[in-house]
Amino acid sequence: MLEKNLEKYFNFNGFRPGQKEIVEAITSGRDTVALMPTGGGKSLCYQLPAVIFENLTVVVSPLIALMKDQVDAMRARNIPATFINSSIPPAEAGRRIAGIKSGETKILYVAPERLAAPSFAPVFSGLNIDFLAVDEAHCVSQWGHDFRPDYLNIRSHIKLLKKRPIVAAFTATATPEVKDDIITRLELRDPEVFIRGFDRPNLKFLVQKDLKTKERYAEILRIIKSLSGSGVVYALTRKETEIIAGYLRENGVKTSAYHAGMAPAMREKIQNDFMEDKFRVIVATIAFGMGVDKSDIRYVIHAGMPGSLEGYYQEAGRAGRDGEKAYCVLLHSKKDTNTHKFFIRMNDDEMRKQGKSWLEARKISGIKYDRLERMEEYAVSRKCRRKMILEYFSDPEAKSHSGNCKGCDVCLNWKRDTEKHKNGQNGTERGFITATVKETVRLYQQDYDIFRIAKMRGLGVSTVMNHLVDWYEAGGELEIDNLVSPLEQSQILEAIAKVGMQKLGPIKQILPEEISYEKIKLVTAKVRRGR
Ligand code: ADP
Ligand code: MG
Repeated sequence: MLEKNLEKYFNFNGFRPGQKEIVEAITSGRDTVALMPTGGGKSLCYQLPAVIFENLTVVVSPLIALMKDQVDAMRARNIPATFINSSIPPAEAGRRIAGIKSGETKILYVAPERLAAPSFAPVFSGLNIDFLAVDEAHCVSQWGHDFRPDYLNIRSHIKLLKKRPIVAAFTATATPEVKDDIITRLELRDPEVFIRGFDRPNLKFLVQKDLKTKERYAEILRIIKSLSGSGVVYALTRKETEIIAGYLRENGVKTSAYHAGMAPAMREKIQNDFMEDKFRVIVATIAFGMGVDKSDIRYVIHAGMPGSLEGYYQEAGRAGRDGEKAYCVLLHSKKDTNTHKFFIRMNDDEMRKQGKSWLEARKISGIKYDRLERMEEYAVSRKCRRKMILEYFSDPEAKSHSGNCKGCDVCLNWKRDTEKHKNGQNGTERGFITATVKETVRLYQQDYDIFRIAKMRGLGVSTVMNHLVDWYEAGGELEIDNLVSPLEQSQILEAIAKVGMQKLGPIKQILPEEISYEKIKLVTAKVRRGR
């Protein structure tokens, strides 16, 4: 039954680990807390119940950009979803509210501060809501790394409703303190708690310790040049994002800095351009990230150590949400720890100024120092990184983990320059078909076009094309003419005649810019198959 709806509305052919149990708990009427890693598929756990419930589902979500992406993706699947926030003009908001009241809309996304807005609060309290989902629920906890006071008011808005809906909270931040805070501060009633394995097998974890500033910059550049696809570089300060972005640009990388000191319109433009692949690398502070739903990020480089492992894992976890291989690289330097100690002391002073007692302030700072120590341990020790992460999050798998994950620098005995990313252009990683490729092919065979498939699956268009290339190269059936026009095919063949097809770069170089690598790969594969 659930599987049927999953297929019908979302076109997924199975649940990801943990999803089914969560959906079952919610649809059977239980309040729920779901802790699942970034990319684990939390959205589906509230979207599927939403299409099953008769009345409205409200999703409280912290960021406008995220809402729009999710609503677009749901509309692409013909699910009536909408959002209301400050970017919507009043007349349009009125239309959306009418759609909600008439029962036409199944899912409404709102930011927590919207619930309190004078124009919206009375509307909200009159709604007949079956289910309320709180996304990024760690924002309600001051132990979380991203506390937002507006989240504290969610419970009082729930109380104003005629009928209390089922309430579920979702987050990727899993420490026991945060989980307990979520339960009390949202006043969940006897919730079922799900802690889904935190491992992300497609992510590789690499650390280089004790780098000097210049070495760091050179290393960032080297990594970016050796990997293909989009990436994020996290820096600790605004100033450093500018310096690193400048350095990368000087060295021929298309990039942009991003931080909270920029004007909102500018930030939005940079974020959108990055999402649309107009440039490949974004150099950002932690202001960039939450709610950024770009699933084909191939690497996250930390040019500086974060203050806690949950912060690190949340940021690094933005890589590879599409399930494809991706890299998480931490470039550590000894001075990072001092930087964080300085932040903690400043925050301590701030808390005292705001009237917190010495004892309270000391307790909070104490937790922060402990976390910093665990982070430092991750960076400098020579233990399996993955096992350390699982242990930190008290993942049930941690105990039985062998300590050899074969996917971190320690287990791979990785040294600089020894591991070069194989981007598939030389064919070395071809020849096997993964489940994710099969999924793309299945949709393609159902006659969805590549743009639609990309949207539905939350993948980049080029990733989807690459799936089709993999499929075709491995011998699968594909009508090339539908993907590469006859004119483009003859242009590519002409280029191959000139420069051969040993390497794709030279072919690409003499062709018009619009002809992508993927198209070239399809044609070279066709030539090979014809031989
Ligand atoms: P999270 O919020 O946990 O970080 P998302 O909900 O954004 O993760 O999901 C990550 C990606 O996984 C999205 O592209 C989503 O479409 C995809 N996804 C989720 N569930 C499934 C499923 N059962 N089968 C295939 N893809 C899925
Ligand atoms: Mg999410």
